[in-house]
Amino acid sequence: MDSDIDIARRAPLLPIADVAARLDLPADALHLFGRHIAKIDAAASTSLARRPASKLVLVTAISPTPAGEGKTTTTVGLGDGLSRIGKRSLVCLREPSLGPVFGLKGGAAGGGRAQVVPMEKINLHFTGDFHAISSAHNLLAAMLDNHIYWGNALGIDTRRVTWRRVVDMNDRALRSVVSSLGGVANGFPREDGFDITVASEVMAIFCLAETLDDLQRRLGRITVAQRYDGTPVTAADLKAEGAMTVLLQEAFQPNLVQTLENTPALVHGGPFANIAHGCNSLVATRAGLALADFVVTEAGFGSDLGAEKFLNIKCRQSGLSPDAVVLVATVRALKMHGGLARDALASEDLQALDRGLANLARHVAGLRRMGLDPIVALNHFASDTAAEHDLVISACRGRLNTLAITCRHWAAGSAGITDLATAVVSAAEARTSPFTPLYPDTADLFGKARAIAREIYGAEDITVTTQAARDCERITKAGFGDLPVCMAKTQYSFSTDPTALGAPEGHHIEIRSIRLAAGAGFVVMLCGDIRTMPGLPRVPAAEVIRLKNGLVEGLF
Ligand code: ADP
Ligand code: MG
Repeated sequence: MDSDIDIARRAPLLPIADVAARLDLPADALHLFGRHIAKIDAAASTSLARRPASKLVLVTAISPTPAGEGKTTTTVGLGDGLSRIGKRSLVCLREPSLGPVFGLKGGAAGGGRAQVVPMEKINLHFTGDFHAISSAHNLLAAMLDNHIYWGNALGIDTRRVTWRRVVDMNDRALRSVVSSLGGVANGFPREDGFDITVASEVMAIFCLAETLDDLQRRLGRITVAQRYDGTPVTAADLKAEGAMTVLLQEAFQPNLVQTLENTPALVHGGPFANIAHGCNSLVATRAGLALADFVVTEAGFGSDLGAEKFLNIKCRQSGLSPDAVVLVATVRALKMHGGLARDALASEDLQALDRGLANLARHVAGLRRMGLDPIVALNHFASDTAAEHDLVISACRGRLNTLAITCRHWAAGSAGITDLATAVVSAAEARTSPFTPLYPDTADLFGKARAIAREIYGAEDITVTTQAARDCERITKAGFGDLPVCMAKTQYSFSTDPTALGAPEGHHIEIRSIRLAAGAGFVVMLCGDIRTMPGLPRVPAAEVIRLKNGLVEGLF
């Protein structure tokens, strides 16, 4: 089998203006970045109303394992599959971060015969959006320290600065640093640190803002520190939000590319799915719904994190609601959930597979709790056996009362996923009601967390540390108790223990501390150790990435 990059490089790409023309987007609505990438002019995309019949399809998955599930690959494949059966479709994805590209996970442009292209560009600097987001974030950090340097009129308590700096790299050396060393001319030394750009609240805001005005208002609400009297200091107090918006103006326009089969794709924004909500920008989703009849989009991690936040944060804020939900599962991952070791996944094991279905069942139940009936996409791997696929499909039909369809888009492109595409069209066209939010805005913050823990994670209850109780009181008193909750929890398990695969029961979700993301419009509940600056693995992907005859090698 060819590598992803070999397949991507051989693909016959259309000029991006031709891709835009399929969406009736005129050439003057495009800002070109070479022949195959364009930004869509903000005026063009915001002036477009939603096409009356457009359908939003959410792709989510079972709990991720190192075996790989293939949400992005399935999102892209389904977009192509819908095109193949004659639908005007479009894919909406997040932009890849350089951290995973050079670390362990690799790029995020799909795989096999279901990719967005040009994959080297999308996976590397692309249109510079992450640069713009990092710059806007770091401008605020620089203005904050500068304010302290010039006399600290706001009375900022330098021990209580919460706004760190960001860089788009996995670099554990920067997690904790001391800034302003080197004497009087360099300010007041204080503990500081870096997060990866995708963990920045600016990224989350960028992906939830409706317009540039909304973006600026939200940036102004960011809380960066506390004063000596304990009151919050915001970006607006530092008069930073205007310049930050200027830095983000161009980046805020969605990026148009295409799949291997020339289906249009908007790849825009990319917040973490743990301390943020984990899906592409709202402006891209809205532009997609204005341009195509079927918009297929991905939410990060499993449905307990990604879909729950897509619904209760992004959809709640914007009024969107998915018309169909696809739940990606693989035989390999289900066998891991059933207790099989990673090195034993290549051989058939129906018992482990059957046990692992408990994980799938809980994801189905969680989605049903939110009023959505998912279609299971069983992403076919070469090592899977027919008996394994039969088992999953009949168990879904029987025990889970769910439609499950084997998909071969990774190996065969759109031809391998037409059954799923047809089922998605039927489901979307039959759907008339919006999703059911998990909790009302007016529920108190811990009540919201409890609803997620019990009804989505299958937990007994939540527990709350003294720190978290204090945080909750402060945030509620400041008037933010009505915000939705963003759970920052391991993606590998329904519990807070990443090794508890399958469908653990009787567990408690410990909320250790709470952070306000006032600009993004949610409250982050930290459960367990969540890294906002990943490290590189012992052998990073970067070691094999190089240029050969002017072409990039080793990206995957
Ligand atoms: P996710 O979006 O869920 O993180 P991706 O779609 O990015 O997953 O896929 C993760 C990796 O698995 C990619 O390298 C992709 O090429 C690979 N992959 C996905 N589906 C298949 C498949 N059916 N067979 C082999 N490899 C696959
Ligand atoms: Mg993905």
